[in-house]
Amino acid sequence: MKSLKDSADPILIAGGGIGGLGAALALAKHGYPARVLEQAPEFKEVGAGIQLGPNSWRCLRALGVEAAVKKLAVFPEALVAMDAVTGEHLVSIPLAGFEARFKAPYAVIHRADLHNSLLEACRASNFIALETSRQVKSFEDDGETVRIATNDGASYATPAFIAADGLWSTARAKLIGDGPPRVSGHISYRSVLPVSDVPEELRRWEMVIWCGPKCHMVHYPLRGGELYNLVATFHSNRYEEGWNSYGDPAELHERFSGTCDIVRLMLKRIAEWRMWVLCDREPIKLWSKGRVALLGDSAHPMLQYLAQGAGMALEDSLCLAQCLDDAENVESAFAAYPMKRYLRTGRVQLAARLYGEFYHADGVRRELRNAYVKHASYEGLAWIYDGWDGY
Ligand SMILES: Cc1cc2nc3c(=O)[nH]c(=O)nc-3n(C[C@H](O)[C@H](O)[C@H](O)COP(=O)(O)OP(=O)(O)OC[C@H]3O[C@@H](n4cnc5c(N)ncnc54)[C@H](O)[C@@H]3O)c2cc1C
Repeated sequence: MKSLKDSADPILIAGGGIGGLGAALALAKHGYPARVLEQAPEFKEVGAGIQLGPNSWRCLRALGVEAAVKKLAVFPEALVAMDAVTGEHLVSIPLAGFEARFKAPYAVIHRADLHNSLLEACRASNFIALETSRQVKSFEDDGETVRIATNDGASYATPAFIAADGLWSTARAKLIGDGPPRVSGHISYRSVLPVSDVPEELRRWEMVIWCGPKCHMVHYPLRGGELYNLVATFHSNRYEEGWNSYGDPAELHERFSGTCDIVRLMLKRIAEWRMWVLCDREPIKLWSKGRVALLGDSAHPMLQYLAQGAGMALEDSLCLAQCLDDAENVESAFAAYPMKRYLRTGRVQLAARLYGEFYHADGVRRELRNAYVKHASYEGLAWIYDGWDGY
């Protein structure tokens, strides 16, 4: 869309997370100037790991950051599932075949490393302006321009506004007005610890999930194996909402008390945990209006059980930029964008819930889960890893 490429006012993006920075890069790749407004005083991600499936890697490739991210990523040999009660090994799915099958790897990385790679690429682009300590407070779309006001009294005019402001999106409240996200009743505790604190038998070049009744634990190496990422998830109705606050280890240990020695030993090694109250939303079909569009978690927040939230945000970014190329005006581009995305993101949102039940199965369900998992292959998730529309 030539008018946007020539516009004196860049496209404005609220939020400098993986989604917001991914969107800025995608727009820049297509020749659209963009400005990212981040509410925090610096661009930063939480200190934890993130898994990147082949679809996410192909997006990073299209955004021009694949090589930089690969240098910092760990490429595990296998995805491993264990029974957290008996310690039984259920299955190891080798990852060596991913490149041949999906034209991209499966890898894990420290979030700060992924985020920094995106940030560096944004900083290197003449098309992208980055501003911190700017919280978008309100927007008004008059049909030609979107007028944005931030908490510090600044105001902006933009031909198109993308709200990549995450799970608790205030832009969504105005655009869609469907209330707060759904509290799932699941809590995650996350920690990153030095390899020296990890029991010898768990120092594995693998992404390992231990499945227990109403709980599971995931661990994998980061930064060349110097660090280990640990996520422990369990059912709890103690919290209504919350984000990134310090967790109460007593509750964590109580919820994992029925798991085998090695799982409990690993959990005891952690001195400090951060806690996430996991939330998602029902899928919706329309997440844009006029010249305003949501992207990433603001549009389709999901439980992390398929490790795809960031991947979906990166796919959104590329889709949105392509829609701007294909349409005659911003309104029709923004109308087309969720139409191309909602069935895929909605499927991941709903499938992630099912995977949560699967991981947390008890009794006969657990036996059936174990029997099924023993024959699992990555083909079951090929609908995600094969990607979408060329990515
Ligand atoms: C425990 C856990 C594990 C996960 N594991 C994985 C995984 O392995 N793989 C994967 O792909 N995904 C994973 N995810 C999901 C993934 O982290 C998210 O889907 C992804 O980070 C969403 O990115 P986003 O940019 O849309 O939102 P966010 O990361 O939430 O970023 C939103 C940004 O907007 C800013 N902001 C908010 N409001 C405003 C405002 N009004 N004005 C300006 N700025 C604002 C915020 O400060 C923030 O920087 C996991 C999630 C959790 C909770």
